[in-house]
Amino acid sequence: MTGTKGACFCGAVEIEVSGAPEAMGYCHCNSCRSWSASPVNAFSLWKPQNVKVTKGAEFVSRFMKTRTSDRQFCKLCGGHLMTDHPPLGLVDVYAATIPSLKFSPGVHVNYAETVSPMKDGLPKLKDFPAELGGSGELVPE
Ligand SMILES: [Zn+2]
Ligand SMILES: [Zn+2]
Repeated sequence: MTGTKGACFCGAVEIEVSGAPEAMGYCHCNSCRSWSASPVNAFSLWKPQNVKVTKGAEFVSRFMKTRTSDRQFCKLCGGHLMTDHPPLGLVDVYAATIPSLKFSPGVHVNYAETVSPMKDGLPKLKDFPAELGGSGELVPE
């Protein structure tokens, strides 16, 4: 899995991820739902050095509501690209932004906040895994 390309909604900004993601799954938190305007966010987490803006870097704008999430989007079209999580050392590239990535979700996070329960048999974490500072607690589907 190398050189998976993606782009913003209008195509002015192009990105490329390389290697394999550290994790993939779904986040049900209020912030993801509000920012993505969707009931659930499909994420893929990458080491920062594996994520590159290959075109249109001058059009990338950022918004940080909290210091844990540096949200990046195209200022021409408003299309979302990724959210850098500096404390975690990981960048969430939205699965929808890199459509050719084979999306293999392994976990649901922040399931306590879900508005869209998904009975797919995957583990459902109440918040985040313990190794990322969460409780690591599982909740029922
Ligand atoms: Zn754009
Ligand atoms: Zn979230």
